[in-house]
Amino acid sequence: MQREALLLKKKGQKIVLVPTMGALHEGHLSLVKRARKRGDVVIMSIYVNPTQFGPSEDYTKYPRPRKKDQDLARNAGVDVLFAPKALYAKDESTRVVEGEKSKGRCGRYRSGHFDGVCTVVAKLFMIVQPDYAVFGQKDAQQCDVIERMARDLCFPVKVIRAPLIRDKNGLALSSRNRYLSDEEYQMALQLPQILARAASCGDSKRAVAQARTELIDAPGLRLQYVEAAGKYLCAAVYVGQTRLIDNMPILAGATGSVVPAGF
Ligand code: AMP
Repeated sequence: MQREALLLKKKGQKIVLVPTMGALHEGHLSLVKRARKRGDVVIMSIYVNPTQFGPSEDYTKYPRPRKKDQDLARNAGVDVLFAPKALYAKDESTRVVEGEKSKGRCGRYRSGHFDGVCTVVAKLFMIVQPDYAVFGQKDAQQCDVIERMARDLCFPVKVIRAPLIRDKNGLALSSRNRYLSDEEYQMALQLPQILARAASCGDSKRAVAQARTELIDAPGLRLQYVEAAGKYLCAAVYVGQTRLIDNMPILAGATGSVVPAGF
């Protein structure tokens, strides 16, 4: 892949990378649309990165519908699908550690997660040699961490943050939504509804307090955290065994960043 990428660059082609873990949905495909507008060659990576999963997380059961992903990627306009079997040597002993943006929110509850994310993204940047890399606002903290890492380590990559895509009922699209039963799905819809209501007050402190009260009371949801980060109200909840994250801009009168699939 690296050899191919260096050849493309020699020919003056602009490379855009869309890193994913597969189980593709409209959220991922919206990143490809953005990528297409930026460069000549869109490279999507699909790799379920073991180092970003905790020991009790869903690494082994994470969905891997390879054939379906290939078709979706091709139809969305991906030029090269990079799906390595492994990206780590057995005796690998180097990690990338980000020390500020990875604190709080998900970082508080997923020890080592963002070190794993930074490490794999740094590898992907070196292998794919992108001019641009597109990440989704769905994983707001991940965007913050990657932007900081790219700046601090002087990667010659422009990080692009693409909007969060939701389904027709407002639930943020996620590969993990397929774990939800019908009943759990209905309960999960409370998350964007509560965040949108709270965020529309326009004040961070009040938004967090209101969302916390409502999320704690919401039947079927188990709150992990709700925090303001910059101008975003961010939360993680469990619905049954499934962990869901979401975020909304804190804006007076806003109804949430609802960008429907297929926008
Ligand atoms: P994942 O496969 O979950 O690691 O996600 C790969 C990329 O797709 C990340 O940059 C995510 O932020 C992005 N992504 C996932 N879901 C969505 C969504 N609903 N809207 C926008 N981007 C998304």
